[in-house]
Amino acid sequence: MTNLRLRSIARVAEPRTIDSRHQGRKISEYFAENVFTEAAMKSYLSEDAFLSVMTATKTGQKIDRKIADQVGSAMKSWAISKGATHFTHWFQPLTGATAEKHDAFFQINATGKGIEVFDSNALVQQEPDASSFPSGGLRNTFEARGYSAWDPSSPAFIMEIGSGKTLCIPTIFVSYNGEALDYKAPLLKSLHTLENAAVEVCHYFDKNVTKVVPTLGWEQEYFVIDEALYEARPDLVFSGRTLFGHAPAKGQQLEDHYFGSIPERVYAFMLDFETESFKLGIPLKTRHNEVAPAQFEVAPIFEEVNVAVDHNQLLMDVMQRVARRHKLRVLFHEKPFAGINGSGKHNNWSMATDTGKNLLSPGRTPKNNLQFLTFFINVIKAVSEGADLLRASIATAANDFRLGANEAPPAIISVFIGSYMTDILNEIESKVESGKFTEESEQTLRLEIHNKIPSLMQDNTDRNRTSPFAFTGNKFEVRAVGSSQNCASTMTVLNTIVADQLITFKKEVDGLISKGKNREVALMEVLKRYITESKKICFEGNNYSKEWEEEAARRGLNNIKNTPRALDFMVTKKGIDLFVRNEVFTKEEIHARHEIELEKYIKIVQIEGRIIGELAVNQIIPAAIQYQNELINNIKGFREIGLDERHTEAQKNLVTEISEHVNAILKMVHEMTEARKTANNTEDIRDRAIAYCDTVKPFFDEIRYRTDKLELVVDDKLWPLPKYRELLFLR
Ligand code: ADP
Ligand code: MG
Repeated sequence: MTNLRLRSIARVAEPRTIDSRHQGRKISEYFAENVFTEAAMKSYLSEDAFLSVMTATKTGQKIDRKIADQVGSAMKSWAISKGATHFTHWFQPLTGATAEKHDAFFQINATGKGIEVFDSNALVQQEPDASSFPSGGLRNTFEARGYSAWDPSSPAFIMEIGSGKTLCIPTIFVSYNGEALDYKAPLLKSLHTLENAAVEVCHYFDKNVTKVVPTLGWEQEYFVIDEALYEARPDLVFSGRTLFGHAPAKGQQLEDHYFGSIPERVYAFMLDFETESFKLGIPLKTRHNEVAPAQFEVAPIFEEVNVAVDHNQLLMDVMQRVARRHKLRVLFHEKPFAGINGSGKHNNWSMATDTGKNLLSPGRTPKNNLQFLTFFINVIKAVSEGADLLRASIATAANDFRLGANEAPPAIISVFIGSYMTDILNEIESKVESGKFTEESEQTLRLEIHNKIPSLMQDNTDRNRTSPFAFTGNKFEVRAVGSSQNCASTMTVLNTIVADQLITFKKEVDGLISKGKNREVALMEVLKRYITESKKICFEGNNYSKEWEEEAARRGLNNIKNTPRALDFMVTKKGIDLFVRNEVFTKEEIHARHEIELEKYIKIVQIEGRIIGELAVNQIIPAAIQYQNELINNIKGFREIGLDERHTEAQKNLVTEISEHVNAILKMVHEMTEARKTANNTEDIRDRAIAYCDTVKPFFDEIRYRTDKLELVVDDKLWPLPKYRELLFLR
């Protein structure tokens, strides 16, 4: 009888039939066919109703009940014509996954006949039981009830699972008292705040702007491994990452995977999940291999932030389901394999006006460029002020393995802008001297800057891949977001800090104008001061280097390497005031979220600790002892046939080596369990999280060091867990 690992390896080689839905049609023929798009809405709604919905979604106004009735019935007719039998409110609770509870359209009428119904009540609001979603104490004080409420700014869609079709209505999820219990509600508020603040600032340059739309294009990294091997790794199944495993002889050192040809099996999987995504209106654009073996990336064309966030959540869901059809598993974990690159989710972010201008794209005229510089410098200033909040937004147990691990951005937030923009900012700083800066010198300076812009626009090669927050020509790219995270948490912070900054900027500039300053001069003077004040956050060098850590410390930038402490930034007075002032979170909501994040951290470390203990004791040590017995029998055999001790020297050393590891592992597993008990008895939740971080987690690496040593000496056919070389290279 062979062990599960060997049987799994055999399964990988078996021929498999794949139920692929890839159709080989032109994408444009079926793109968004499962989405209740504007076009679909138009054909199912009266002209009046359609226009009201469009206006409401554009301005963020509430949709009145009569219109909602019409939209509900239009949605139902459309969904039923597509074969949907059920509907669900689709939301994004703080668990990190998406949630749905399906209801049938089916109803029995007064005469006992079955009919299909869907009224606007069901569209506008539902009451899923909130008690099983994280609420951070918000529901203890009030009621367990939670409401999901329709978000008309993200289109409804039909999710096909096997032959089942369900109408999914994007919603926000709030408590009985209206506190947000999800990622979307605060995101929408932050977008609203930013849109208003940005429009106001745009009016310095163009009175025709009536709306600004923040945009997001994410790049999703992931690993793909075989299902059989995955199933033989309880650590992957229960924690999403490998808690054991010696580095393979060949990893990523030859750098032969990046942009290499995509393996055929993975390619079939990609085609299939892309097809499903296109039907759902997710505008996927690129696919390629990533740096690590078995690692890949997918990225769409950017969209409005809200829709882009929904599409990313939807994509992760689709990918996981389609992978199963292909007898594969996708890993979204930030660090599934030690010693090999982890996965991130770059968030490319900008703002666009309804006049068609990207506010972070250098323009063709000197005036446009002043507008560009205004937004560009305000974003840098915002990050300089709000870096700690951004850091907190990416703090998760899984991302801790990435940040600062010499392959991902460090835990220090800094901004990279490239040499051309650095020159331009230096020039502004040196030439704008308040008091002496006149209309005339402003014009000269603006022309000088304008002349530099063409070279800036070609400056796309000068990209610093080590920066956590980089300007890449016409957008900023937040690179520190974890691959499994909901983009909304970082986007909410970024939108809010930039909005707050723009509001302050407007006040300062208006203040100077009201004192009689020329508008452009006033703009330049405030911008100049911002450049000086944000210098400390700008860094052009290698973010992975030791020198940067030292330099950052001198500059007073924070470098918090673990989640429980990074989360402190959420609940500082400065952070709370910012969110409350901008009406994105209430104080209670922030404290609740802080608690939820700490709780998540504790649970993850706790679960990992338990799995490590179980696998070490129940699988790894028994395999080691079995091999040790074989060695002992071998030594005895030598003795029986009368051969000299010298022949068994090596075997004896191995027997002792195994014993040493086994003893050390058992001792540490025991100590780790005690540390968990002590941590669990810590009353305060933050102290508990710190205890898990400082006293439980350090055992992980130490235990692993020993088990990985055993992996190198124990007979291969006895080793119970699929090895790195198998997980990463067999397909
Ligand atoms: P790369 O950075 O890999 O060279 P691109 O610069 O073309 O590739 O785009 C990377 C991501 O940035 C894509 O998802 C793209 O849609 C997104 N992106 C491009 N322009 C914007 C923008 N104005 N706002 C938000 N995202 C954008
Ligand atoms: Mg990128």
